[in-house]
Amino acid sequence: MENRILLSRKRIALVAHDNKKAELIEWAKYNKGTLQKHQLFATGTTGKLIEDALDMHITKLLSGPLGGDQQIGALISEGKIDVLIFFWDPMSAQPHDPDIKALLRLGVVWNIPIACDRTSADFMLSSPLMNQDYEVKMPDYKSYLNRNV
Ligand code: PGA
Repeated sequence: MENRILLSRKRIALVAHDNKKAELIEWAKYNKGTLQKHQLFATGTTGKLIEDALDMHITKLLSGPLGGDQQIGALISEGKIDVLIFFWDPMSAQPHDPDIKALLRLGVVWNIPIACDRTSADFMLSSPLMNQDYEVKMPDYKSYLNRNV
């Protein structure tokens, strides 16, 4: 399987659970200048809030519990999302828990950068790799694909 290139203008997916939305909005406002250099995607409600806060276009998918997490997972699998910033709530049960797990799993399957808290998001966004092309070493799925079934 070919390695993938994350271009200098990254396609960033933003998702926050309800109790984490205020934190993500504050983080996004603080980092507006940096985020404007990239292309943003988000689940429905998160996307609307960030679009209003930053006054910039965001590709909004369905609301997370209605399929938005799965849409982002599919985009990651298709190589159409480079970075996932996902402020999930460790203190509340979510109705779409299987979708959350699936999204995090696909992020790791495709070896993309994932930040699940504000500190990680700060480290990620300030990385020089955000502003240059980066070759993702694709995990070796050949033996899996060629398995005898
Ligand atoms: P939302 O979805 O942005 O539509 O609230 C987030 C989520 O819970 O996945």
